[in-house]
Amino acid sequence: MSIKLENISYQYRDSSRRKALSNVSLEIKPGEFIGIVGHTGSGKSTLIQHLNGLLKPDEGKVLFDGSDIYQEGYSLKELRGKVGLSFQYPEHQLFEVTVFEDVCFGPKNLGLSQEEVKGRAREALQMVGMDEKYYEKSPFELSGGQKRRVAIAGILAMHPQYFILDEPTAGLDPIGRDKILELLKRLHENQGITIILVSHSMEEIANYVDRILVMDQGCLLYDDVPKEVFKHKEKLEEIGLAVPFYMYLMEDLRERGFFEEEVTAITLKEAEDQILKVLKRKQTL
Ligand code: ADP
Ligand code: MG
Repeated sequence: MSIKLENISYQYRDSSRRKALSNVSLEIKPGEFIGIVGHTGSGKSTLIQHLNGLLKPDEGKVLFDGSDIYQEGYSLKELRGKVGLSFQYPEHQLFEVTVFEDVCFGPKNLGLSQEEVKGRAREALQMVGMDEKYYEKSPFELSGGQKRRVAIAGILAMHPQYFILDEPTAGLDPIGRDKILELLKRLHENQGITIILVSHSMEEIANYVDRILVMDQGCLLYDDVPKEVFKHKEKLEEIGLAVPFYMYLMEDLRERGFFEEEVTAITLKEAEDQILKVLKRKQTL
């Protein structure tokens, strides 16, 4: 079981520029929580649309559970039910009259019974924390964060095994942002959904994911656990990225002579732990 990309390349038809993706290979296994980072234009959005057959590579193969998704007779529609994709600003795609109908749209298209569709919509709206009082409202009456959660519910109602989100927290305030991140964490931990999160926030990535894909000019530059990826601080900065804030903070402390060992913290929690360790050691000297 997995989604596998084998040496895929892709160039937009109307673009005379270089390839948007160039010889990318990777495998995503069930149960993972993956972060995708990269400068604007590095190919993140193009990459994720290859994972559920929305874009077809010019070269290379896409395999889902070992089957080539472009072989004759393969149902891309079924695949898109299993691999849910939430575009950037998914709220732009809300269009039904009510919140409830909007969430029903996806499962209805799967050809489920009306009862099943309604049950799933209710369940998905509960999951994203939308109270029943919103069900009959127009999606356009909601706040930015609420709209986005309704859009996410529309995908969850399809019961995807894999859930890909393109910058789901972009433009949200800290509360809206944390609600979405905590939701993704719950979906991953409690429902075992594989999450693939495109993000421009290294702090977000450091806090939540267990593997990072770094895109640079259409190529997959790194594919590793966060601690390893963030060791390439200079290279990341060179390609327009950064390491998490707490790494810079700890480096400052080290330069000021607070401690001498290597900086290993990438999250607030880890920075706290390292600082407390140093303080304790200093007290016992
Ligand atoms: P990212 O999501 O990392 O910002 P994209 O995958 O959107 O990157 O873009 C990768 C490259 O493909 C960029 O050079 C971008 O300009 C180009 N591109 C993206 N979408 C289109 C499109 N619809 N038509 C033509 N070129 C595109
Ligand atoms: Mg993008």
